[in-house]
Amino acid sequence: MQDSYKRTIDYVRIAVTDRCNLRCFYCMPAEGIPYEPKKHLLSYEEITRLLTVLGDLGFRKVRFTGGEPFLRKDFMQLLENTAGLAAYDSIHITSNGTLLQKHITRLKALGITKINLSIDSLDSERFHKITRRNDFEKVMQTFHLLVNNGFKVKLNAVIMKGINTQDIIPLAALAKEHPVDVRFIEEMPFNGGYKENVEMYSARDIYADLKAHYPSMEKLPSTHGDTASLLHVPGYKGNIGVIAAFTRSFCNTCNRLRISSKGDIKSCLYDDGVFNIRDYMRSGVTNEELADKFREIVRLKPKDGFEAEALRTNKSEALQSMSSIGG
Ligand code: SAM
Ligand code: SF4
Repeated sequence: MQDSYKRTIDYVRIAVTDRCNLRCFYCMPAEGIPYEPKKHLLSYEEITRLLTVLGDLGFRKVRFTGGEPFLRKDFMQLLENTAGLAAYDSIHITSNGTLLQKHITRLKALGITKINLSIDSLDSERFHKITRRNDFEKVMQTFHLLVNNGFKVKLNAVIMKGINTQDIIPLAALAKEHPVDVRFIEEMPFNGGYKENVEMYSARDIYADLKAHYPSMEKLPSTHGDTASLLHVPGYKGNIGVIAAFTRSFCNTCNRLRISSKGDIKSCLYDDGVFNIRDYMRSGVTNEELADKFREIVRLKPKDGFEAEALRTNKSEALQSMSSIGG
């Protein structure tokens, strides 16, 4: 499916839960966010139905995220259903890595090997300060287990001024020994109302730090829909990415829709939810009606994150937690 700016939209990100066992301070307040009652969440049957309709519309990539996806009961069952849908060439998961170790064998058997892990610091105290939980060792163990089992791991780190800029080079160095992509993300103002302002450490600042340390670093051509500017350090097994999530320089190649755990569709990260597909589905519509709704949403997808933000009716972005959007 193409939107009105001729972008091919073939990637859906689905948050399977808004619950999380960590409390990353850029994502939610220490006390957590008011979670949706379970009956408000899309059921696995509903998610599988949506994926079937989207598959027929040409969607080829799906990412499950959250909250922490492995916190939702029987998440592996949803993955099994999805692995059975022929339309999807690629099934991805974004996880904090605290709960997935025991599922590694089954994930591998299902061919679900593309996992993004969020690790913002290689210093256990800083990790604790950022996530407000003491799970650093467990997450690093997961990282090594995944890499040693041949998973295609991308590591995500949100970089914040005065908090973890000193982690940029040590994290990037993981791509020297391991075939992993390490991606640095600008902080976005989606933190559940915990703080109003984001003190920006921009993609440009991150790039400058990397360039100062790795003068021979090269820029790689971007691939379809990739939000990261990719860099390669000669001799490194993996690449380094910088994601201008807040300064939004990648919208012209956007290829995605997001669906929140309660079925709000976001055609842009910066809109305030254009349509609730759960209620529409529960009103008894047919798959053809669902497909028409998706066609309409894609047709109306805004040009970029700035346009989407300007169209918001709820201007207070900071009130929404990334845990309910899915990142
Ligand atoms: N719990 C899983 C995890 O942390 O990987 C999946 C959900 S989390 C919301 C998805 C991604 O969003 C993570 O990589 C996280 O670092 C990122 N994220 C959360 N809040 C953010 C914010 N305010 N700005 C930028 N990235 C954020
Ligand atoms: Fe949980 Fe992920 Fe948000 Fe951290 S970023 S609180 S791990 S949902």
